[in-house]
Amino acid sequence: MQCFRLFANVLNVSRGTFNRHIVSLSMLPDTHQMLHKTCRDFAEEELKPIAAEVDKKHLFPKEQVKKMGELGLMGLCVPEKFGGTELDYLAYAVALEEISRGCASAGVIMSVNNSLYSGPIDKFGNDKQKEKYIAPFMSGEKIGCFALSEPGNGSDAGAASTTAKANGNVYTINGTKSWITNGYEAGAIVLFATTDKSKKHKGISAIIVDSPTTGLSLGKKEDKLGIRGSSTCSLIFEDCEVPRENLLGEPGLGFKIAMMTLDAGRIGIAAQALGIAQASLDCAMDYASKRQAFGQSIIKLQTIQQKIADMALKLESSRLLTWRAAQLKDSGKPYTKEAAMAKLSASETATFCAHQCIQILGGMGYVSDMPAERHYRDARITEIYEGTSEIQKLVIAGNLVKEYGLN
Ligand SMILES: Cc1cc2nc3c(=O)[nH]c(=O)nc-3n(C[C@H](O)[C@H](O)[C@H](O)COP(=O)(O)OP(=O)(O)OC[C@H]3O[C@@H](n4cnc5c(N)ncnc54)[C@H](O)[C@@H]3O)c2cc1C
Repeated sequence: MQCFRLFANVLNVSRGTFNRHIVSLSMLPDTHQMLHKTCRDFAEEELKPIAAEVDKKHLFPKEQVKKMGELGLMGLCVPEKFGGTELDYLAYAVALEEISRGCASAGVIMSVNNSLYSGPIDKFGNDKQKEKYIAPFMSGEKIGCFALSEPGNGSDAGAASTTAKANGNVYTINGTKSWITNGYEAGAIVLFATTDKSKKHKGISAIIVDSPTTGLSLGKKEDKLGIRGSSTCSLIFEDCEVPRENLLGEPGLGFKIAMMTLDAGRIGIAAQALGIAQASLDCAMDYASKRQAFGQSIIKLQTIQQKIADMALKLESSRLLTWRAAQLKDSGKPYTKEAAMAKLSASETATFCAHQCIQILGGMGYVSDMPAERHYRDARITEIYEGTSEIQKLVIAGNLVKEYGLN
């Protein structure tokens, strides 16, 4: 009898838990469904038509980013009192997927402003910093960037060699940051620099830097394989003085801030990858239903159907992982491992789906008249930035070792 009650209790708990987990679009709350539709319509009408030109000419989609700001997409999780939309991370994932489905460059611009720039200031900044460095960055007129990587260290972020020396009321910054998304357009930077070298990664601090500012110059715009509508460049600091009040959190907290920011950011990159994967599936379905070969449309061929099924399966399972990570974050539970799993799975899915899309389109997949080749180029970066796939595996395994009590 006791056993039965125990069993029933467990069943109720798991039923309750399951019911709270959103696993399909139709289960999303009304707000999220409205957001989803708004983003899908916006992407269809305003992003999809410009995505090829943005890519070809390396154009920053300024007007579209402004409109994204007007729609509240540039600070989806920031509190309303600082100009944000004050929704949750699930909403962010849903919105970012739709934006990236229309244009992956617009997706990364949105993702950096939301997760990597506003995210840490919202979490660790004081009210004065939030008023100055978040509120004006919500409208899409101004955007921010996140500067962690350096020429000598990307994955090994704790080895930062850029220094910030405290000197009276200022920090004097010297060093070079590399690969900085939004670097050319950014009005401010969340910068990671060493304030105490002897403490290694525990001596790294996060500092907000205005851009442009004296002592900061921008390197050349990188000529990239994909996401070419977003700028990527080096930031070169030479005796650049920044007020000490721009320190984010405490001195030495920088590495922790960076790692926590990247945990959340990975959910965003997973969502960006889902958008690229979905766009690839859309493109493949449309083409396969129209293309005739051997007297029938190729969508009727079993080999093509197998490819489509594989794409859909990977896409849906990656979306579940992404939404799970977002919901864990929203409920205040640990989500580092789950965010890494979501990013790893979704980014590899984006590459897989774009690859299959090209194959289904045959020759038309290989030329820029169709979006398949762009999706393929855009997909690739999702396996690299905010931690490579190899690093995601280290994060997942590291967490498993802890869960098994083997550390
Ligand atoms: C387009 C673009 C935009 C970017 N945007 C930003 C940005 O806005 N801000 C920012 O700070 N950075 C940004 N980055 C940098 C990006 O995060 C790094 O490129 C990435 O973290 C990898 O670092 P790395 O290039 O130095 O490669 P490395 O760290 O040198 O890695 C090279 C290879 O070694 C592998 N490797 C390294 N260490 C290990 C390990 N311990 N175990 C197993 N394998 C390992 C890697 O997985 C990779 O395959 C951007 C990069 C690009 C290309």
